[in-house]
Amino acid sequence: MSGVGKGVTTSSIGRIMQSRGLTVTAIKVDPYINVDAGTMNPTEHGECFVLADGDETDQDMGNYERFLSLELSRLHYMTTGRVYQSVIEKERNLEYEGKCVQVVPHIPLEIIARIEKASRSAKADVTVVEVGGTVGEYENILFLEAARMMKQKSPEDVLTVLVSYVPMPNKIGEMKTKPTQHASRTLNSAGLQADIIVARSEVPMDDIRKEKIAQFCSVSSESVISAPDVESIYHVPLNFEKAGLSDILLKKLSLKSRKRDMKDWIAFANKVDKAEKPLRIAIVGKYFATGDFVLSDAYISVIEAIKHASISAGFKPEIEWLDSSVYEKDSRRLKEISHFHGVVVPGGFGSRGIEGKILVAKYCREKKIPYFGLCYGMQIAVVEYARHVLQLEDAHTVEMKSQPLHRIIDIMPGQKKKIACGNYGGSMRLGNYETVLAPGSLAKSAYKSGSAIERHRHRYEVNPDYINDLEVAGLVFSGKSPSGDLMEIMELPTSVHPFYLATQFHPELLSWPLRPHPLFVKFVAVMAKKSSRS
Ligand code: GLN
Repeated sequence: MSGVGKGVTTSSIGRIMQSRGLTVTAIKVDPYINVDAGTMNPTEHGECFVLADGDETDQDMGNYERFLSLELSRLHYMTTGRVYQSVIEKERNLEYEGKCVQVVPHIPLEIIARIEKASRSAKADVTVVEVGGTVGEYENILFLEAARMMKQKSPEDVLTVLVSYVPMPNKIGEMKTKPTQHASRTLNSAGLQADIIVARSEVPMDDIRKEKIAQFCSVSSESVISAPDVESIYHVPLNFEKAGLSDILLKKLSLKSRKRDMKDWIAFANKVDKAEKPLRIAIVGKYFATGDFVLSDAYISVIEAIKHASISAGFKPEIEWLDSSVYEKDSRRLKEISHFHGVVVPGGFGSRGIEGKILVAKYCREKKIPYFGLCYGMQIAVVEYARHVLQLEDAHTVEMKSQPLHRIIDIMPGQKKKIACGNYGGSMRLGNYETVLAPGSLAKSAYKSGSAIERHRHRYEVNPDYINDLEVAGLVFSGKSPSGDLMEIMELPTSVHPFYLATQFHPELLSWPLRPHPLFVKFVAVMAKKSSRS
C-alpha cells in the first residue's frame, strides 16, 4: 500500500547494489492517468519533484536521486497517461503498421520498451523499477503484466520484490503475516512470484514469522527481509545489508560478486546517530493538514535538505510546521517565531496564507532571524520589501491579485500566452537553468563558484521594472540569469542581516546526504552560530 516504504526500499536496494560496484538506475511507475505529477495537489499526492530536464515527477524520484547520488531524466518516470499517450501517438503515425492496437499486449510492450530505454541510456547493470500502488488493484495491473512478460522473456534477469506491511495490532500483541500471504497470492494471480519479500513492520520480525511467510509465500526464509521502522531512512540500506540482501540479489541475478564499499554511507548514517545539538527550524507552509492528520510529504525535499546540511554539521534539526494564516488573524503571535534558529518559506501556489507569510518575512527581516525563501518564499520576501521598505503599499504578486498598483512579481512574458490557452500541464519554467552569482555576495561565498545550475518550477518572476528601485533600497540580487533579465537569488548584505536569502529556484531538489546543498550548508552554519549564543 502507499506509504509502506516502497520508495525507500527501491532506493535502498539501488544503493546496496551500487555499493557492490554495479551501475544502478531506478524507474518509477505511477499508475494514474495524469501525464505527470505537475497537475496534482501536493496535499494529496505529496511533493512534485522536478528533474534536471524539467519533468514534473513523483517524490520517490527524489529518494532515488538522494540515495543513488545521481540525476535522473524523464525516461525514468512513467504514468499510465504517459504510456497511453505514446501508444496513441504511435498508432496515429502508423507505427503499428495496420495492426489492431490493443491494451494487451501493446500497453505492456510500451512499458517494457520504456524500461529498456531508460536502462540502456543509464548503461545500467541493474535497474530497479518501482510499481506504485497495491497488488490487486485495477490501476497497476498492466505494469505487473509487463513485469510478467519481462520475467517470461529473461527469467534469469528479472527479480520480483514484494514490499508488504506486517501489522502488529495493539490488542493482539503479535505480528500478523496474513496480509502478506494474501498479497503474495494476489501477486501470483498476476502471474508473478515474489523472489524477495521485504516485510515492513514497527519492530524487527522474529524467525518464526519469517518461516511462516517463507512457507506460505514460497520463498526461502533468507529471502524474507525484516524491515522495521527506523529512526532515519538512511539506515535502511545498512539494515538490508545486515540481512545480506545484496549477496542474495547478486546470487539470484547471477551477477559477479564484488567487494562491498559503503564507507561514505556508513559515515553519514553514523553522523545521523551522533547529531545531538538541536537546531529549531520553522517551515511556514500550507500543504500539511489533511483532515485530522499532519503530513509533511509535500515538503519532503526541503526536510531532507535541512537534514543533510544539519547532520553533516553535527546538528539535529527539530522542524516545526507553522500555518501562516494564524498570523493573519493575530499578528501578536509572530513573537513565537523568535523561538526558532531559522525560518524556511518553501515553494507554493495560490493565495491561502500568503499575507501571513509576508508578515513572517517582515518579522524575520526586522528581528534578524535567518530566513531562507524557496521560490514562492523569494517572491514573498520581495513583495514584503517593496511594501515596507519601498513603501509601495499595494505591492503584490499578480498570481494573487491581477491588478495591484505595483506588480512587483509579474507573470513571465512566455507564460501569459500559455495560461490564456489553458495550457497548464508541464508548461512552467521548469528544470535546469544557470544562475550567475554576484561577487562579494553571501550566495557566492556559499557556492564558492561564479555560477550555479539549479532546478526551477515557476510562472512568475520579479518584475524587471522594479529591480533598480529595490536595489537602491538595499536589496541585493546576487544571482541572475546569464542574460541578466531574471532574478534568481535575492539577499540582504550580511552587514544588515546574518542570513536573509531567497532563491527563485529550488535548491532543495539538489541536496543529497553525501552532498548537502551549499545554500543549506550556509543557512545551517549561520543558525548554528546563533544557537551557540542562545
Ligand atoms: N507560484 C509561484 C510561481 O508560479 C511560485 C512557484 C513555486 O514556489 N514553485 O511563480
